[in-house]
Amino acid sequence: MSANIPFAGLTVEAARRALAANLKDNSIESPDLDARLLIGAALDLDHTGLATQAARKIAEDEAAIIETYAQRRIAHEPVARILGRKEFWGLDLHLSRDTLVPRPDTETAVEAALDILRSESRVGHALRIADIGTGSGAILLALLSELPAATGVGTDISAGALATAEMNAQRLGLASRASFIRCDYAAALSGPFDLIVSNPPYIRSADFAALDPDVRDHDPHLALDGGTDGLNAYRAIVPQAASLLAPHGILIFEVGYDQSAPVGEIMRAAGLTLPHPPRADLGGIHRAVMGRKTAF
Ligand code: GLN
Repeated sequence: MSANIPFAGLTVEAARRALAANLKDNSIESPDLDARLLIGAALDLDHTGLATQAARKIAEDEAAIIETYAQRRIAHEPVARILGRKEFWGLDLHLSRDTLVPRPDTETAVEAALDILRSESRVGHALRIADIGTGSGAILLALLSELPAATGVGTDISAGALATAEMNAQRLGLASRASFIRCDYAAALSGPFDLIVSNPPYIRSADFAALDPDVRDHDPHLALDGGTDGLNAYRAIVPQAASLLAPHGILIFEVGYDQSAPVGEIMRAAGLTLPHPPRADLGGIHRAVMGRKTAF
């Protein structure tokens, strides 16, 4: 399969349409949006730039970049991977091969945290946050961007992911309140934390083959594989988190579509209470599970 379109000499608008049609023919799910993002990135034009320059002609060197992007997308590489960046919670995050592409669903965990903190009038407090398996830093940096007096630490087993998270913290002006530690889950952290968040690997090993190729072939395996029942990471993190939380501290997990009940049970077994019902994502799936440490 190939894009095989002579982009050079086409107008920006014609190139965009031709690429969208080609992506559609190759069964790519959102051809119009993807074509706009890829051509915009190849030409370094935002949405407005694409409109104002719609009639200008594509040069040879620009055509070569578009062609490469098209081939990669047709091979199911996600747009965010091709561009090396993804917007999350309104933040422009850089990615690397060691980081998951942040998903809109994961904003559910951020919303859950902020709602609880708002309801307790703690948004302006000097909160201490830990993000276990931070990847690109998405959840931690989103929270720090909303909580002006908070500080946070992100952990990851991958040095490459941590380097990306650290660079994102710097680019977003959050580095003075964020630190990063390489360790297994929360093993190297010392508490107490007011809030611990995590989007750990939760895909069942046997479900890998059936994953969307955009995910299966491009997201890091380490960030996805949750073991035989998908719950290994929760079983490892919950006891660590329970001892690291401050009294009344909150633990928030992203979970897979059918995991809110078993993850809730793992939390209860570690002595946490579950005062809030799971929070659904935009697709109606229970996506965030919240536990609390009562004073013990
Ligand atoms: N939400 C991701 C997916 O299904 C999985 C992320 C994870 O394992 N934490 O594509």
